[in-house]
Amino acid sequence: MKDAYGRTINYLRLSITDLCNLRCQYCMPIEGIQKIAHEDILTLEELDEIVYAFAKLGITKVRITGGEPLARKGIVTLIEKIKRHQGIKDLALTTNGILLDTMAQTLKDAGLNRVNISLDSLDDKKYTMMTRGGKLKDVLKGIEKARKVGLTPIKLNVVLIGGFNDNEVERFVRLTQEEAIDVRFIELMPIGEVAKWSKHHFLSNEYILKVVPELVKSNALEENSPALYYQLPGAKGRVGLISPISCKFCGTCNRVRLTSEGKLKHCLHSNEEFDLKAALREERSLTDFIQYAMLHKPFEHLIEEGSLTERNMIQVGG
Ligand code: SAM
Ligand code: SF4
Repeated sequence: MKDAYGRTINYLRLSITDLCNLRCQYCMPIEGIQKIAHEDILTLEELDEIVYAFAKLGITKVRITGGEPLARKGIVTLIEKIKRHQGIKDLALTTNGILLDTMAQTLKDAGLNRVNISLDSLDDKKYTMMTRGGKLKDVLKGIEKARKVGLTPIKLNVVLIGGFNDNEVERFVRLTQEEAIDVRFIELMPIGEVAKWSKHHFLSNEYILKVVPELVKSNALEENSPALYYQLPGAKGRVGLISPISCKFCGTCNRVRLTSEGKLKHCLHSNEEFDLKAALREERSLTDFIQYAMLHKPFEHLIEEGSLTERNMIQVGG
């Protein structure tokens, strides 16, 4: 499937819930978000039907996200269903890792290929503070279990936040020395609540290369990945820099998102949404509607000009 600019769209990020067992400060407002009525959330069957439509149009990669996807009942059944669609070659999940220790084996058995785990601090207290209550040891156990059952390659996602974890960069990078793990730093995006945050929290990923100058560009190319990869000499893992602000990757964007209430977002940073749930429930052609939406996908985000999405990340499906 191509958009109006000739970009091939083959990657769907599927949010299956806007609920979460954590409340990260940069993702969710302290008072929480307005609860979506149960009937407005896509059912497992609807999610599956939508994925099938995308698969028919050439989507080969699906990432399940949220909210916290492991907090949604029926996630294992959904994975089994999605795996049955021939075209889907890569099925991954982004999680905070809290429930992975207990769920990793079942997820693997259901057909999940791999996980990305979000972890913004290696310090107990700071982790609890940023997640408003999470326990670092639960995530570490989850990472260990994911590795053990083969939900690999594991990627750790670290949102770089000035005044919070900028002094932990070296520690995160060193994790890649002995472990075949990718640590990816993501620039903080001014989405929802974060748009009001003070400037000093927003750091360019160039900061990583300044703090760890021995990082060298990695030769291993990952098709359509927004990350630029680096490595410490002789390291088993890699360091990825995802820089949506300082070095935007819109020109090679291959992705589309679906919110848990069935709104198709052709761009994370745009407020334009297409109501796939309504199309599905009214028995209109999903494939026609998706193709129509793709023709409206903007060429690039305009964050630098102040054009921001009004939703919080937890509502979009990061
Ligand atoms: N709960 C899961 C998790 O935390 O991995 C999946 C959903 S979460 C919204 C997906 C990713 O979005 C996480 O890696 C999180 O750190 C990232 N994220 C949330 N808000 C962000 C922001 N304002 N800027 C950059 N990344 C953000
Ligand atoms: Fe929950 Fe993930 Fe958002 Fe944190 S980043 S509040 S874990 S959805």
